[in-house]
Amino acid sequence: MAHAVVVGAGIGGLTAALALAHKGWEVTVLERAASIEPVGAGLAVAPNALRALDVIGVGDEVRKLSAIQGRGGIRLPDGRWLARTTAEDAAARYGDPIVLLTRAALVGILAGRLPQGALRVNSRVESVDPATGRVAVRGTAETIEADLVVAADGIRSRTRSALFPGHPEPVYAGVTSWRAIVPLAGETGASETVFASETWGRGLIFGVMPLAGGQVYCYATAAVPPGLRAADERDELLRLFGRWHDPIPALLDAADPAAVLRHDIHSLDTPLPAFHAGRVALLGDAAHPMTPNLGQGACQAMEDAVVLADRVSPGDPAAGLAVYSRERLARTTPIVRRSRSIGRLTRWRNPLAVALRDGAMRAVGRLGPDVASRQGDRVFAWSPRS
Ligand SMILES: Cc1cc2nc3c(=O)[nH]c(=O)nc-3n(C[C@H](O)[C@H](O)[C@H](O)COP(=O)(O)OP(=O)(O)OC[C@H]3O[C@@H](n4cnc5c(N)ncnc54)[C@H](O)[C@@H]3O)c2cc1C
Repeated sequence: MAHAVVVGAGIGGLTAALALAHKGWEVTVLERAASIEPVGAGLAVAPNALRALDVIGVGDEVRKLSAIQGRGGIRLPDGRWLARTTAEDAAARYGDPIVLLTRAALVGILAGRLPQGALRVNSRVESVDPATGRVAVRGTAETIEADLVVAADGIRSRTRSALFPGHPEPVYAGVTSWRAIVPLAGETGASETVFASETWGRGLIFGVMPLAGGQVYCYATAAVPPGLRAADERDELLRLFGRWHDPIPALLDAADPAAVLRHDIHSLDTPLPAFHAGRVALLGDAAHPMTPNLGQGACQAMEDAVVLADRVSPGDPAAGLAVYSRERLARTTPIVRRSRSIGRLTRWRNPLAVALRDGAMRAVGRLGPDVASRQGDRVFAWSPRS
């Protein structure tokens, strides 16, 4: 049986391992961490990614564990709506709405379907030889032979740097981000009816996304220099967003300071020349790290995974890898670019520029859900065969 080694057990690596196993590959997933517990945050899974998950038979389980991004839209810090959307509009257009779940839930579903013994934690890959498919694991004399290596080793991918030495690294996108999962208890003062919303201020964004099970996923970004950290990140969020519309202050009050994650955002502004070399495929953030503005980083990793498994046959991996590379570069490059462009708009602070930006969003919102949704067609209408 042909053997595929997947480097990294993030959402991309796990989806790739399942997709390849479905196609008859023997898979080994090597993860450097001691466990695959993901960061405590939520994830928006868009219709395109749900279709990818359907290919490997987990789409319905994900739908079942998710909250639907119901009524929602874009707001101003004082609470006024700039544009409204509903889950029904998205479902009518794409077959599914955007759904929301915790990263832990998604990783749990994917990992739970892996073939017995496929996942090896505490296994940091030191090097990958694209010509032979030999994979060296740190601390062991062992070299694993693979017919196909899938490098899903994330935004700081060492495999990417080794395959494309000298290629520019991901660059700071001008914003830092915070994420937290907050319990939605009555005593927090947060309304029981929390709308999915993203609120745009001057150089600031705050997102509120209801999850299943009485929790809310909150995220925020701020245009600041890279590397800054606060002694207490929840206090920093209260300083920046504590006077914004309900339920933002109550959600921040209810957040556990220790559970607030902060990361600077980077994106690969110069696309790679290819997503493969020899027997190695790059996938997910290893291939196309992007800003989170379209909520597509993990969704594109899931698309990558099912396309890779479909195009690469165990008999002749090299031919299929070139096809995978070509198709996925064409698909992901405009998405990375568009995400970055939206990210730039979120950094604006100049009051006049911000008023113009907000006016444009309001105008699009007034044209109705059809016009607003049409902008998402290129991203969300994807299907595994398109
Ligand atoms: C604030 C924020 C919000 C986001 N929101 C969304 C969203 O709503 N929807 C969405 O689709 N995307 C979102 N994204 C993007 C998404 O998180 C990423 O695109 C996605 O997690 C990438 O998955 P991956 O599997 O490619 O990489 P990772 O999740 O980074 O996984 C890489 C794995 O490889 C392992 N690894 C690394 N090096 C080695 C090695 N040498 N040997 C073995 N293992 C190794 C790592 O430990 C890790 O487990 C968001 C990102 C951010 C920052």
